[in-house]
Parts: sequence; structure tokens; C-alpha cells
Amino acid sequence: GPRLVKDALYTYVRPEKTEDPELLCVSQRAIQDIGLKEEEAQSEEFKEFVAGNKIFWDEKEHAEKGGIYPWAQCYGGYQFGQWAGQLGDGRAISLFESTNPQSGTRYEIQLKGAGRTPYSRFADGKAVLRSSIREFVVSEYLNAIGIPTTRALALTLCKDSKVRRERLEPGAIVTRFAQSWIRLGTFDLPRMRGDRKLLRQLADYTAEHVYAGWENLPSKLPSGDAKTAHTQTKTRIPKDTVEGEGLEEENRYTRLYRAILRANALTVAKWQAYGFMNGVLNTDNTSILGLSIDFGPFAFLDTFDPMYTPNHDDHMLRYSYRNQPTIIWWNIVRLGEALGELMGAGKDVDSETFIEKGVTEEQADELVKRAEGIIDRCGEEYKAVFMDEYKRLMTARLGLKSHKESDFEDLFSELLDFLEAYELDFHHAFRRLSAFKLSELETEQSRKDVAGRFFRSGEAPRQEAESRERTAKWLEKWGARVKEDWGEGKDEARQAAMHRVNPKFVPRSWILDELIERVEKKGERDILPEIMKLNLNPFNEHWGWNEGEEERFCGDVPKYKGMMQCSCSS
Ligand code: AMP
Ligand code: MG
Ligand code: MG
Repeated sequence: GPRLVKDALYTYVRPEKTEDPELLCVSQRAIQDIGLKEEEAQSEEFKEFVAGNKIFWDEKEHAEKGGIYPWAQCYGGYQFGQWAGQLGDGRAISLFESTNPQSGTRYEIQLKGAGRTPYSRFADGKAVLRSSIREFVVSEYLNAIGIPTTRALALTLCKDSKVRRERLEPGAIVTRFAQSWIRLGTFDLPRMRGDRKLLRQLADYTAEHVYAGWENLPSKLPSGDAKTAHTQTKTRIPKDTVEGEGLEEENRYTRLYRAILRANALTVAKWQAYGFMNGVLNTDNTSILGLSIDFGPFAFLDTFDPMYTPNHDDHMLRYSYRNQPTIIWWNIVRLGEALGELMGAGKDVDSETFIEKGVTEEQADELVKRAEGIIDRCGEEYKAVFMDEYKRLMTARLGLKSHKESDFEDLFSELLDFLEAYELDFHHAFRRLSAFKLSELETEQSRKDVAGRFFRSGEAPRQEAESRERTAKWLEKWGARVKEDWGEGKDEARQAAMHRVNPKFVPRSWILDELIERVEKKGERDILPEIMKLNLNPFNEHWGWNEGEEERFCGDVPKYKGMMQCSCSS
């Protein structure tokens, strides 16, 4: 039953068995990334694992063979800005860790929806098919467009189980995997309980086993090109951003903190550049590795509206598109408070006896206060990493090779402003832009014709003349910058470059809804694997499926199906 768990961050727990499981879909990309063989993923044993029916543990055989017993993690979190107490994996159970022999990457593989755990509180430990389809698809999509995310390997329908939400619904299990499932909320819990020893153990574990060791964390002040842990992205940190008292003697926990904030800044920059919203960015839904994690009422933008939140219950717009960078920083400040004593302690913290020896209340206050100053300066680093990555991505999405200071106002802001003003589709804008030839942008009239192609086919924007004029002006500036970067006669090369960064397929809410309808109500079994072809290769122009279907799923959002909202009951 539900219980508070002390002095520990996980509990051993076995998944419930599923009587009559049906394996609905497997991600081919995930199979490769984990390092499974094709035959292995088709075996009966695989199906038993992903249905929760088999674990690497046999009581009788254990004495001789060993094994791994599944576990659920304990964490806490701030939900909608309020401390929510102990949460934990209420319906996720980790099975084992597995290292891909080729890439050397280690993953923790877990089942979501395989029954209750000590952290289920008063819920059932199940997941409905509807939300499981959504998580399965979006995890693999985000990965396909280069956004760090937890992954999905398999989707299993539990035919024998009906789950009660607003109505009775079919249950399902998503087999998912990640390099780590630790969240910021994992640190919040021992902090709120005053468990300083556990906090330090968790921080050490995170540095040594989740990140690639203390020696690979950001060192002294970054200058010039700095490579971040876990991504190959080069980020220029303006010099001096985080200089000052407390950082000269930068201790290792500050370096860990900075690695975590940098990873998250990179990810949220990618969400903004690709129009993705998590929908519930509570601290328990913010990853220590900067992975997109915990997919509930998430969505992609359709038209560009920065105030849009996909979460039906988010009346304050806390988790709206434009608020995401701020909210992630808010969450990271909570982490700073948890690590405050360790970060504020300077070199002293290296002494093994720091925690055991204890500090007086006054000393602790002093350390935390010192950490506040460090956190403030880390805020500058967060902004810098975010802006750098956002600019890099937008530059590429617009088909430019270089970034000029004036691009931000002239190209990025003005594009977003008119997309918003005329309710134009965010994703189509980039993909359609790639098709325009420089020669088409030479005269005012030709630019106005081209501008028309930005708009939804067959549906002119409300302020037709004004919008064309404004768009045409923007196209003139864009064309000039493209010419500057590429020279003339490079339309094809630029188009190819733009296609590599501007997806044609986006798993929008209306598509996920149709998918759910067809799998759940109509019992279709081919549609999910077909959509996965688009989903795993979203930059393609064609997929060799049904051309009408492909174009429909990549086309305009059907009337009244844009910018939908979703409730949390999944
Ligand atoms: P979320 O809103 O998905 O971040 O979930 C918040 C907390 O509620 C987490 O600790 C989840 O594990 C838990 N939770 C959500 N749904 C269920 C469920 N059906 N059964 C058990 N725990 C759940
Ligand atoms: Mg959560
Ligand atoms: Mg959730």
C-alpha cells in the first residue's frame, strides 16, 4: 500500500503479470540504440519482458546465478510551484540496466503501467492505451529530431485490463529507457526531509554514474569553445559570465550543478526552436540529464501562439510555450537550494567528514547564503547557453550558415511575430521556406506571390493584403541573408540543408488523436507501424507508404483540430 519511504531513493518491486498481452509496436530505432538483435525483439521472451511477465530474477536459481530484482524510484517534487511531498514512480518499474556493446551507452529499462508500487499513493499503477500511444510516439520523435529525451522501445496492450479514468479504458504498458530516470525532484525529497547524508550520496552518484565522473564536469570558467557533457554541441559561453566570489574555488558540487543546468538549457532551447511543450514542467518532470521526460499533456505548436499551453488545467499559463525557459530555470533554482550547503562549502566539501561532522545552524545558513550568490551567477550561464543554442538552431532552420547580431530582430522575431499575427503554421513555415528559390524573391510582386505560399493552402489569412506585404518584406531580408551566406545558384544545396533540420512530419495532437481512435476504437493494427516510419524519419520528403495518407499527415491541421488541450488523467 502507499507509504512514506525513509532513508532510501528506491524500493524493490515486481511488475504485475499481464494475462493476455498484445505487442502493438516496437521502435526499430530503439532496438538499434539498445543494441538488441532483430530476432531478439521478435522472440516470445521479449514479449514476456515487455508485458511485465518475466524478470531477470528467479528465487530458486538466484543463489547460483544471481539476477536483478526490479525497483521503483522515490522522489518528490514541486507541482505547479507548490511543494507536493513524496511522489515517486507510482506506475513505473525499472527492470535492469543494459549497455549497448557498440556505443557503450548504458540505459535503465523500465515498464510504465505495469502495476502498483509503494509510490502509487491512491492510484492504480496503470496507464491507459491513449496516453501510452502518445508517449511511445513522442519519445521516439523527439529523439529523431535530435532533442534529448527518454525513449520508448515497445508498446503493449493489456487486453485483460480495463482501467478506470473518466470512463473504462484499455490499459497498456510502455517499455521505456533512459540513461537516467533521476529528476530534479529526486533531490528535492531529501532536501525537504533534511537528509543531508542522502543528498550528498545522491549528488556523488549523479556525478560519478550518471555524468561521466567529476573530472568530466564543466571545470573552471568556460572560455572559448566548451563542450558539454552528454551532447556534442559546442556552446560559446561569453567569458566572465559566472566569475566572482565563490567560483574561483569552484567546488565540485557547483560544477555538477552547472552541468545539470547546461544540459537543461540546451534542451529547453531545442523545445523552443521546434515548438514542443511538455505541459507539466514540475520538478519531478525535469531530468537531471536534461532529457525530455514524463509525457502527459504535451503538444507541438500548430499555429504560432506563445501563450498556448497544451495542459487543459494550466489556467495560469505556467507551462505555456513562452514560459518554458523561465520555468526550467525556476526548477533549477530549487535544485540549487537542495545543493546549496554543498555548493556553498567551497573546498571544505572535499573533506569526507563534512556531512558526518555536521555544521551548526549558523554555519549552514552562511553556506546556503553563499550558494545563493553562486546560483545567481549560474543564471547567467543558463541564459547564455540557452540563447546560444536557440540562435544556432534558428539559424540552421532558416537555412543560414552564419549568425549575425541583427538576425535576431530582423529574421527570428519578425518571422515569429507575423506567424502569430496571421495565425500561420509554425512547422510549415520552415519547411515551405526551404522550397523558395532566390530568383523568386527578386521583385516585390514575386515576393508577394511567394508570401502567399506561407499560408494554409486554400485558406487565406484574415488580413490578406497586409499580411502578404509584411511577409514579402521579411522575405526580402531573408533572401539577402541567404545570398550573403550561400552566394547565388545554391538553392538546391540550401534546400537539402534546410530539409535536414526542418521536419516534414510532426506528431501533432490531431494526429495522435486519430491514431488513438484507429487503434483503440477501430482495432487497426497497421497504422501505428506506418506512422512510425514518418515518426522515425521526419525529415524525409516521402516514405513509400500511401501517398495520400502521407500528405494528409504532413499537411494542414484539419479545421477545429488545432491547438488542442489535454487533461492530466492518463
Ligand atoms: P505526473 O503527473 O505524471 O508527473 O505524476 C505525478 C505522480 O503521480 C508521479 O509520482 C506518478 O508516478 C504518480 N501517478 C500518476 N498516475 C498514476 C497512476 N495511475 N498510478 C500510480 N501513480 C500514478
Ligand atoms: Mg511525473
Ligand atoms: Mg506522468
